Amino acid sequence: MQKTNFCYVDHTHFNCIFPNGNVGKCDNEKPEDAKGVLTESGDILWKTEYRFIQYHQLSSGSECVECKYLPFCMGPCPRRREEMYVQHKHIVCQHKDKEEAMEKVIVDYCEKNSDFYNI
Ligand code: SF4
Repeated sequence: MQKTNFCYVDHTHFNCIFPNGNVGKCDNEKPEDAKGVLTESGDILWKTEYRFIQYHQLSSGSECVECKYLPFCMGPCPRRREEMYVQHKHIVCQHKDKEEAMEKVIVDYCEKNSDFYNI
């Protein structure tokens, strides 16, 4: 199932093949930490699973479910969700001061795109 995120890592069939033969889900993780390995026959053998696949913005207990900024923010990326699962066992807000942070993001976006929208 594709998740509600802008990151390609959330696509079901995305995998990252590292030069050391390991296979991960996020190309920003360290190759030595990747949880899969490419076999001689070309299959991927997963040693452990990535938890972010089950824990996403709309999962039970996620702080994003009730958040009015979800359509704009889209919640944390897969890598952050993986870290959140380890630390909190659910998705927590990635913005420390949600109201202030999101207001700044929206204003920045509008300022950068004012010519395009003719505002
Ligand atoms: S602002 Fe926080 S709680 Fe709201 S969608 Fe973004 S990460 Fe989730």
